[in-house]
Amino acid sequence: MSNFPDWLDPTPYIARVEAAGRRDVLAALAAEQPSITEFAALLSSAAADELEAMAQRARHLTRGHFGNTIQLYAPLYLSNYCGGGCTYCGFSSDRKQPRHKLTEEQLQTEMSALRQMHIEEILLLTGERTQEADFDYLHHCVKAAAEHFPKVTVETFGMTEEEYRALNDAGCTGITLYQETYDPALYEECHRWGEKRDFAYRIAAPDRAFRAGLRTVGIGALLGLGDPVAESISLYQHAMHLMKTHWQGGISISFPRLRPEAGGFMPPHPVDEKKLAQIIFAFRICFPDVPLVLSTRESAAFRDGMAGIGINKMSVASRTTVGGYDNGCAEDEGQFEIDDGRDVPTFCAMLRAQQLEPVFKNWDAVFR
Ligand code: SF4
Repeated sequence: MSNFPDWLDPTPYIARVEAAGRRDVLAALAAEQPSITEFAALLSSAAADELEAMAQRARHLTRGHFGNTIQLYAPLYLSNYCGGGCTYCGFSSDRKQPRHKLTEEQLQTEMSALRQMHIEEILLLTGERTQEADFDYLHHCVKAAAEHFPKVTVETFGMTEEEYRALNDAGCTGITLYQETYDPALYEECHRWGEKRDFAYRIAAPDRAFRAGLRTVGIGALLGLGDPVAESISLYQHAMHLMKTHWQGGISISFPRLRPEAGGFMPPHPVDEKKLAQIIFAFRICFPDVPLVLSTRESAAFRDGMAGIGINKMSVASRTTVGGYDNGCAEDEGQFEIDDGRDVPTFCAMLRAQQLEPVFKNWDAVFR
Protein backbone atom coordinates (compact mmCIF):
# COMPACT_ATOMS: atom_id res chain seq x y z
CA MET A 1 0.00 0.00 0.00
CA SER A 2 1.55 3.28 -1.12
CA ASN A 3 0.31 5.26 1.90
CA PHE A 4 1.68 2.85 4.47
CA PRO A 5 4.19 4.81 6.57
CA ASP A 6 7.66 3.21 6.72
CA TRP A 7 7.92 3.84 10.45
CA LEU A 8 5.09 1.34 11.07
CA ASP A 9 6.77 -1.57 9.34
CA PRO A 10 7.33 -4.34 11.90
CA THR A 11 9.40 -6.55 9.56
CA PRO A 12 12.92 -5.59 10.79
CA TYR A 13 11.99 -6.48 14.37
CA ILE A 14 10.13 -9.74 13.79
CA ALA A 15 13.43 -11.56 13.22
CA ARG A 16 14.63 -10.21 16.57
CA VAL A 17 11.57 -11.66 18.29
CA GLU A 18 12.28 -15.03 16.72
CA ALA A 19 15.99 -14.93 17.60
CA ALA A 20 15.62 -13.73 21.20
CA GLY A 21 16.85 -16.07 23.92
CA ARG A 22 16.68 -16.01 27.72
CA ARG A 23 19.71 -13.74 27.97
CA ASP A 24 18.04 -11.11 25.75
CA VAL A 25 14.89 -11.29 27.86
CA LEU A 26 16.81 -10.82 31.12
CA ALA A 27 18.70 -7.87 29.58
CA ALA A 28 15.37 -6.31 28.55
CA LEU A 29 14.01 -6.78 32.07
CA ALA A 30 17.08 -5.05 33.54
CA ALA A 31 17.16 -2.15 31.04
CA GLU A 32 16.50 1.38 32.38
CA GLN A 33 14.89 2.52 29.16
CA PRO A 34 14.17 -0.49 26.97
CA SER A 35 14.39 0.10 23.21
CA ILE A 36 12.31 -1.51 20.49
CA THR A 37 14.90 -4.30 20.29
CA GLU A 38 14.28 -5.05 23.95
CA PHE A 39 10.55 -4.78 23.39
CA ALA A 40 10.93 -7.43 20.66
CA ALA A 41 12.73 -9.71 23.13
CA LEU A 42 9.84 -9.32 25.58
CA LEU A 43 7.40 -10.58 22.94
CA SER A 44 9.42 -13.74 22.25
CA SER A 45 8.69 -17.31 23.27
CA ALA A 46 11.76 -17.11 25.52
CA ALA A 47 9.98 -14.28 27.36
CA ALA A 48 6.84 -16.41 27.70
CA ASP A 49 8.96 -18.67 29.95
CA GLU A 50 9.80 -15.62 32.12
CA LEU A 51 6.24 -14.41 32.58
CA GLU A 52 6.48 -14.21 36.38
CA ALA A 53 9.59 -12.01 36.18
CA MET A 54 7.85 -9.83 33.58
CA ALA A 55 4.80 -9.52 35.85
CA GLN A 56 6.98 -8.43 38.78
CA ARG A 57 8.78 -5.81 36.71
CA ALA A 58 5.47 -4.56 35.27
CA ARG A 59 3.93 -4.37 38.74
CA HIS A 60 6.90 -2.43 40.10
CA LEU A 61 6.70 0.12 37.27
CA THR A 62 2.90 0.44 37.40
CA ARG A 63 2.91 1.08 41.15
CA GLY A 64 5.87 3.45 40.80
CA HIS A 65 4.12 5.62 38.22
CA PHE A 66 0.45 5.33 39.14
CA GLY A 67 0.56 4.40 42.80
CA ASN A 68 -2.06 1.95 44.01
CA THR A 69 -4.77 3.48 41.85
CA ILE A 70 -7.01 2.20 39.08
CA GLN A 71 -8.72 4.84 36.98
CA LEU A 72 -12.31 3.91 36.09
CA TYR A 73 -14.52 4.97 33.17
CA ALA A 74 -17.63 3.76 31.40
CA PRO A 75 -18.66 3.67 27.74
CA LEU A 76 -21.93 5.24 26.60
CA TYR A 77 -23.23 4.02 23.24
CA LEU A 78 -25.05 6.84 21.49
CA SER A 79 -26.00 5.00 18.32
CA ASN A 80 -25.64 1.65 16.59
CA TYR A 81 -26.28 3.03 13.12
CA CYS A 82 -23.15 2.39 11.12
CA GLY A 83 -21.99 2.94 7.56
CA GLY A 84 -19.07 0.57 8.03
CA GLY A 85 -18.66 -3.05 7.03
CA CYS A 86 -16.12 -4.41 9.51
CA THR A 87 -16.18 -8.19 9.38
CA TYR A 88 -15.68 -8.60 13.13
CA CYS A 89 -18.28 -6.17 14.49
CA GLY A 90 -21.90 -6.59 15.60
CA PHE A 91 -22.78 -3.10 14.31
CA SER A 92 -21.65 -3.71 10.70
CA SER A 93 -24.22 -2.27 8.30
CA ASP A 94 -25.01 -5.69 6.76
CA ARG A 95 -26.05 -7.16 10.13
CA LYS A 96 -29.81 -7.25 10.49
CA GLN A 97 -30.71 -5.85 13.87
CA PRO A 98 -32.75 -2.98 15.31
CA ARG A 99 -30.92 0.33 14.95
CA HIS A 100 -31.31 3.18 17.40
CA LYS A 101 -29.79 6.43 18.43
CA LEU A 102 -30.41 8.08 21.75
CA THR A 103 -32.98 10.82 21.78
CA GLU A 104 -32.26 13.90 23.86
CA GLU A 105 -34.35 12.50 26.69
CA GLN A 106 -32.70 9.07 26.52
CA LEU A 107 -29.26 10.68 26.51
CA GLN A 108 -30.12 12.51 29.71
CA THR A 109 -31.43 9.35 31.43
CA GLU A 110 -28.38 7.33 30.37
CA MET A 111 -26.07 10.04 31.72
CA SER A 112 -28.07 10.25 34.90
CA ALA A 113 -27.79 6.45 35.37
CA LEU A 114 -24.01 6.73 34.95
CA ARG A 115 -23.80 9.63 37.40
CA GLN A 116 -25.70 7.56 39.94
CA MET A 117 -23.02 4.90 39.50
CA HIS A 118 -20.45 7.63 40.40
CA ILE A 119 -18.89 7.55 36.93
CA GLU A 120 -16.94 10.76 36.17
CA GLU A 121 -15.29 9.83 32.89
CA ILE A 122 -17.37 8.69 29.94
CA LEU A 123 -16.47 7.45 26.52
CA LEU A 124 -19.15 8.28 23.92
CA LEU A 125 -19.41 5.79 21.07
CA THR A 126 -21.07 5.63 17.67
CA GLY A 127 -20.50 3.62 14.53
CA GLU A 128 -19.13 5.10 11.34
CA ARG A 129 -20.68 8.36 10.19
CA THR A 130 -24.30 8.02 8.99
CA GLN A 131 -27.12 10.43 8.24
CA GLU A 132 -28.79 9.39 11.48
CA ALA A 133 -25.69 9.81 13.66
CA ASP A 134 -23.45 12.32 11.98
CA PHE A 135 -20.92 14.83 13.26
CA ASP A 136 -23.59 17.33 14.35
CA TYR A 137 -25.33 14.68 16.46
CA LEU A 138 -22.04 13.69 18.09
CA HIS A 139 -21.11 17.32 18.68
CA HIS A 140 -24.44 17.92 20.39
CA CYS A 141 -23.97 14.83 22.61
CA VAL A 142 -20.43 15.89 23.59
CA LYS A 143 -21.71 19.32 24.60
CA ALA A 144 -24.50 17.77 26.67
CA ALA A 145 -22.13 15.28 28.31
CA ALA A 146 -19.60 18.00 29.17
CA GLU A 147 -22.21 19.62 31.39
CA HIS A 148 -22.32 16.53 33.60
CA PHE A 149 -18.91 14.84 33.38
CA PRO A 150 -15.46 16.36 33.92
CA LYS A 151 -13.91 14.04 31.34
CA VAL A 152 -15.64 13.26 28.05
CA THR A 153 -13.90 11.29 25.33
CA VAL A 154 -15.21 9.82 22.08
CA GLU A 155 -14.69 6.60 20.17
CA THR A 156 -16.27 7.16 16.78
CA PHE A 157 -15.35 7.71 13.13
CA GLY A 158 -12.10 9.34 12.02
CA MET A 159 -12.55 13.08 11.58
CA THR A 160 -11.00 16.10 9.96
CA GLU A 161 -8.79 18.37 12.06
CA GLU A 162 -11.51 21.00 11.93
CA GLU A 163 -14.09 18.58 13.33
CA TYR A 164 -11.73 17.54 16.13
CA ARG A 165 -11.22 21.21 16.95
CA ALA A 166 -14.99 21.73 17.16
CA LEU A 167 -15.29 18.73 19.50
CA ASN A 168 -12.49 20.14 21.63
CA ASP A 169 -14.34 23.44 21.88
CA ALA A 170 -17.51 21.57 22.85
CA GLY A 171 -15.76 20.05 25.88
CA CYS A 172 -14.31 16.82 24.52
CA THR A 173 -11.01 15.95 26.20
CA GLY A 174 -9.78 13.18 23.94
CA ILE A 175 -10.44 10.36 21.52
CA THR A 176 -9.96 6.63 21.35
CA LEU A 177 -9.31 5.33 17.87
CA TYR A 178 -7.98 1.85 17.29
CA GLN A 179 -6.25 1.10 14.03
CA GLU A 180 -7.67 -2.44 14.50
CA THR A 181 -4.86 -3.95 12.41
CA TYR A 182 -1.60 -2.39 11.26
CA ASP A 183 -1.35 -4.87 8.39
CA PRO A 184 -2.64 -2.91 5.36
CA ALA A 185 -3.68 -5.97 3.32
CA LEU A 186 -5.59 -7.46 6.24
CA TYR A 187 -7.05 -4.03 6.96
CA GLU A 188 -8.49 -3.90 3.46
CA GLU A 189 -9.93 -7.38 3.83
CA CYS A 190 -11.64 -6.65 7.17
CA HIS A 191 -12.97 -3.18 6.36
CA ARG A 192 -15.15 -3.96 3.39
CA TRP A 193 -16.78 -0.57 2.84
CA GLY A 194 -17.31 2.83 4.40
CA GLU A 195 -14.95 5.68 5.31
CA LYS A 196 -13.04 3.44 7.67
CA ARG A 197 -11.70 1.49 4.68
CA ASP A 198 -9.11 4.23 4.17
CA PHE A 199 -6.09 2.93 6.15
CA ALA A 200 -3.99 6.06 5.66
CA TYR A 201 -6.77 8.44 6.75
CA ARG A 202 -7.34 6.42 9.90
CA ILE A 203 -3.68 6.06 10.86
CA ALA A 204 -3.30 9.84 10.67
CA ALA A 205 -6.43 10.58 12.74
CA PRO A 206 -4.60 10.68 16.12
CA ASP A 207 -2.18 13.26 14.66
CA ARG A 208 -5.12 15.36 13.50
CA ALA A 209 -6.75 15.07 16.93
CA PHE A 210 -3.61 16.25 18.72
CA ARG A 211 -3.10 19.09 16.26
CA ALA A 212 -6.67 20.17 16.97
CA GLY A 213 -5.82 20.54 20.64
CA LEU A 214 -7.36 17.39 22.12
CA ARG A 215 -5.45 16.29 25.21
CA THR A 216 -5.55 12.51 25.02
CA VAL A 217 -5.57 9.85 22.32
CA GLY A 218 -6.09 6.16 22.99
CA ILE A 219 -4.72 3.72 20.44
CA GLY A 220 -4.74 -0.05 20.06
CA ALA A 221 -4.83 -3.05 17.75
CA LEU A 222 -7.77 -5.43 17.81
CA LEU A 223 -5.91 -8.50 19.00
CA GLY A 224 -6.89 -11.65 17.15
CA LEU A 225 -7.09 -10.06 13.71
CA GLY A 226 -3.42 -10.03 12.72
CA ASP A 227 -0.27 -11.72 13.95
CA PRO A 228 -0.08 -10.46 17.56
CA VAL A 229 3.70 -10.01 17.48
CA ALA A 230 3.63 -7.90 14.32
CA GLU A 231 0.64 -5.91 15.58
CA SER A 232 2.35 -5.24 18.92
CA ILE A 233 5.51 -3.99 17.22
CA SER A 234 3.54 -1.64 14.97
CA LEU A 235 1.52 -0.45 17.94
CA TYR A 236 4.80 0.28 19.77
CA GLN A 237 5.98 2.27 16.73
CA HIS A 238 2.69 4.15 16.50
CA ALA A 239 2.87 5.03 20.20
CA MET A 240 6.46 6.25 19.85
CA HIS A 241 5.58 8.33 16.80
CA LEU A 242 2.75 10.06 18.68
CA MET A 243 4.82 10.63 21.82
CA LYS A 244 7.67 12.18 19.86
CA THR A 245 5.49 14.27 17.55
CA HIS A 246 2.89 15.44 20.06
CA TRP A 247 4.84 15.50 23.31
CA GLN A 248 2.35 17.95 24.85
CA GLY A 249 -0.50 15.42 24.59
CA GLY A 250 -0.98 12.13 26.36
CA ILE A 251 -1.50 8.74 24.80
CA SER A 252 -3.01 5.61 26.28
CA ILE A 253 -2.83 2.07 24.94
CA SER A 254 -5.70 -0.43 25.04
CA PHE A 255 -5.75 -4.16 24.47
CA PRO A 256 -9.12 -5.04 22.90
CA ARG A 257 -9.18 -8.75 22.10
CA LEU A 258 -11.45 -10.78 19.86
CA ARG A 259 -12.46 -13.76 21.95
CA PRO A 260 -12.62 -17.01 19.96
CA GLU A 261 -15.53 -18.22 22.02
CA ALA A 262 -17.59 -15.02 21.74
CA GLY A 263 -19.79 -13.77 18.87
CA GLY A 264 -19.97 -15.29 15.41
CA PHE A 265 -16.54 -14.17 14.16
CA MET A 266 -13.56 -16.51 14.39
CA PRO A 267 -10.39 -14.46 14.82
CA PRO A 268 -7.68 -15.55 12.39
CA HIS A 269 -4.94 -15.21 15.05
CA PRO A 270 -6.55 -15.95 18.43
CA VAL A 271 -4.66 -14.57 21.40
CA ASP A 272 -5.00 -16.50 24.66
CA GLU A 273 -4.85 -14.92 28.11
CA LYS A 274 -1.22 -15.89 28.67
CA LYS A 275 -0.13 -14.18 25.45
CA LEU A 276 -2.31 -11.16 26.23
CA ALA A 277 -0.68 -10.86 29.67
CA GLN A 278 2.78 -11.07 28.08
CA ILE A 279 1.91 -8.30 25.60
CA ILE A 280 0.54 -6.06 28.38
CA PHE A 281 3.65 -6.60 30.52
CA ALA A 282 5.93 -5.86 27.55
CA PHE A 283 4.13 -2.54 26.95
CA ARG A 284 4.27 -1.59 30.62
CA ILE A 285 8.00 -2.33 30.83
CA CYS A 286 8.68 -0.18 27.76
CA PHE A 287 6.07 2.56 28.44
CA PRO A 288 6.20 2.91 32.23
CA ASP A 289 4.17 6.12 32.47
CA VAL A 290 1.59 5.56 29.71
CA PRO A 291 -1.90 4.57 30.86
CA LEU A 292 -2.66 0.99 29.84
CA VAL A 293 -6.35 0.15 29.56
CA LEU A 294 -8.34 -3.09 29.84
CA SER A 295 -12.07 -3.32 29.13
CA THR A 296 -14.91 -5.54 30.31
CA ARG A 297 -14.46 -7.71 27.21
CA GLU A 298 -12.11 -9.68 29.46
CA SER A 299 -13.15 -12.04 32.25
CA ALA A 300 -13.42 -10.93 35.85
CA ALA A 301 -10.61 -13.30 36.84
CA PHE A 302 -8.23 -11.96 34.18
CA ARG A 303 -9.04 -8.33 35.00
CA ASP A 304 -8.51 -8.97 38.70
CA GLY A 305 -5.11 -10.43 37.92
CA MET A 306 -4.06 -7.55 35.66
CA ALA A 307 -5.23 -4.68 37.90
CA GLY A 308 -2.16 -2.84 39.11
CA ILE A 309 0.14 -5.27 37.29
CA GLY A 310 0.51 -3.45 34.02
CA ILE A 311 -3.04 -2.16 33.75
CA ASN A 312 -3.95 1.09 35.52
CA LYS A 313 -7.21 2.03 33.81
CA MET A 314 -10.37 -0.05 33.35
CA SER A 315 -13.93 0.28 32.19
CA VAL A 316 -16.54 -0.85 34.66
CA ALA A 317 -20.20 -1.97 34.58
CA SER A 318 -20.21 -1.41 30.80
CA ARG A 319 -23.17 -1.82 28.49
CA THR A 320 -22.38 -2.06 24.79
CA THR A 321 -25.97 -1.57 23.59
CA VAL A 322 -27.58 1.79 22.82
CA GLY A 323 -29.68 2.70 25.85
CA GLY A 324 -28.23 -0.19 27.82
CA TYR A 325 -28.03 1.60 31.18
CA ASP A 326 -31.53 2.91 31.62
CA ASN A 327 -33.53 2.76 28.41
CA GLY A 328 -34.56 -0.86 28.12
CA CYS A 329 -32.46 -1.73 25.05
CA ALA A 330 -30.30 -4.22 26.89
CA GLU A 331 -31.58 -7.10 24.75
CA ASP A 332 -30.18 -5.74 21.46
CA GLU A 333 -26.95 -7.11 20.07
CA GLY A 334 -24.05 -5.19 21.57
CA GLN A 335 -20.96 -4.14 19.63
CA PHE A 336 -19.07 -6.90 21.41
CA GLU A 337 -19.78 -9.29 24.24
CA ILE A 338 -19.00 -8.35 27.79
CA ASP A 339 -17.44 -10.94 30.05
CA ASP A 340 -16.96 -8.97 33.26
CA GLY A 341 -20.48 -7.80 34.09
CA ARG A 342 -19.84 -6.76 37.70
CA ASP A 343 -21.45 -3.58 38.97
CA VAL A 344 -19.43 -0.66 40.30
CA PRO A 345 -19.61 -1.51 44.05
CA THR A 346 -18.60 -5.15 43.42
CA PHE A 347 -15.72 -4.14 41.16
CA CYS A 348 -14.49 -1.50 43.61
CA ALA A 349 -14.68 -4.01 46.49
CA MET A 350 -12.43 -6.34 44.48
CA LEU A 351 -9.92 -3.51 43.92
CA ARG A 352 -9.88 -2.55 47.59
CA ALA A 353 -9.40 -6.17 48.60
CA GLN A 354 -6.19 -5.98 46.55
CA GLN A 355 -5.18 -2.71 48.28
CA LEU A 356 -5.98 -0.78 45.11
CA GLU A 357 -7.88 2.48 45.16
CA PRO A 358 -10.58 3.05 42.52
CA VAL A 359 -10.29 6.55 41.09
CA PHE A 360 -13.35 8.03 39.37
CA LYS A 361 -12.00 11.50 38.74
CA ASN A 362 -8.50 12.64 37.93
CA TRP A 363 -9.43 15.50 35.66
CA ASP A 364 -11.25 18.68 36.52
CA ALA A 365 -13.63 20.37 34.13
CA VAL A 366 -11.76 23.67 34.59
CA PHE A 367 -8.81 22.19 32.63
CA ARG A 368 -10.90 21.66 29.51
S1 SF4 B 1 -16.13 -1.39 14.18
FE1 SF4 B 1 -17.09 0.63 14.09
S2 SF4 B 1 -17.14 1.10 11.90
FE2 SF4 B 1 -16.81 -1.08 12.05
S3 SF4 B 1 -18.86 -1.98 11.87
FE3 SF4 B 1 -18.36 -1.70 14.08
S4 SF4 B 1 -19.22 0.25 14.64
FE4 SF4 B 1 -19.13 0.16 12.40
